[in-house]
Amino acid sequence: MPDQIQRFLFDQTNVRGEIVTLEQAYHEVLDRHAYPQAVNTLLGELLAAVGLLTDTVKLDGTLSIEVRGQGALSLLMAESNPGGELRAIARVAEGAALPDGEAAFRELVGNGQIVITLDPRDGNRYQGIVALDHEDLAGCLEAYFSQSEQLPTRMWLAADGKRAGGLLLQRLPSEAQNQDVDAWERSVHLASTIKREEILGLEQREVLYRLYHEETVRVFEPKALRFGCTCSREGMANALLSLGADELRDILAEQGAIDTQCHFCHTEYHYTAAEVETLLEDPTAPPPTIH
Ligand SMILES: [Zn+2]
Repeated sequence: MPDQIQRFLFDQTNVRGEIVTLEQAYHEVLDRHAYPQAVNTLLGELLAAVGLLTDTVKLDGTLSIEVRGQGALSLLMAESNPGGELRAIARVAEGAALPDGEAAFRELVGNGQIVITLDPRDGNRYQGIVALDHEDLAGCLEAYFSQSEQLPTRMWLAADGKRAGGLLLQRLPSEAQNQDVDAWERSVHLASTIKREEILGLEQREVLYRLYHEETVRVFEPKALRFGCTCSREGMANALLSLGADELRDILAEQGAIDTQCHFCHTEYHYTAAEVETLLEDPTAPPPTIH
């Protein structure tokens, strides 16, 4: 199945929706790590969510969703960029053991918060935070939309380690254009009948037919999504600088050079002692943050 997002709307209503399907991109994320199955499932759901949100907020920039938990799974993060590229990562809390099989979202992440960051190419960065106080990821993200955006939003997410997918419905504020007062409740009610296997196994058009064959649905050109990492030699150097000069010189004294690796795609970056010194002396480089 192609990795893509399909936007749709119900004619003459203020209800819109999206379906996302990910297979190859999901595979490429999981392939670079060896997370337990339960983490793979959650990462798939998060990737599907980031795909849905990217299209929802119509951002020309980078969007990330970070789940910061106090449980065994301390971080889940997925990010999208304007090129339709997605990447994701998970981090297990130090010393924590994760279950071998499937485990529920809150069982793994515990309490904490979800941080959604919109970083437009032009303009200011925006960050929204919502507490982890729903049982599943979809519920927490729905709460984000109703609190921060005041937009009634429903989301269904699924992943199984091979495929990830999601469905989103949103009621736009333009009530005047709505000629069908039941449209929102009806579309949500019908969407609630979707099964996990259907989100993961059916083509997007089949999902729409299965749920809404009695409705007038307008579909748009699907947008392709893929795995992609935005890491670069320059970006990694900036991350190194944030360790501070003392720390970098300590590493150089011990190892003679600095080797680092992108957490998302595992690309390795090598910096010689001379390169690190140049970085430290270059006044155009961002100032190092002392920890
Ligand atoms: Zn990378």
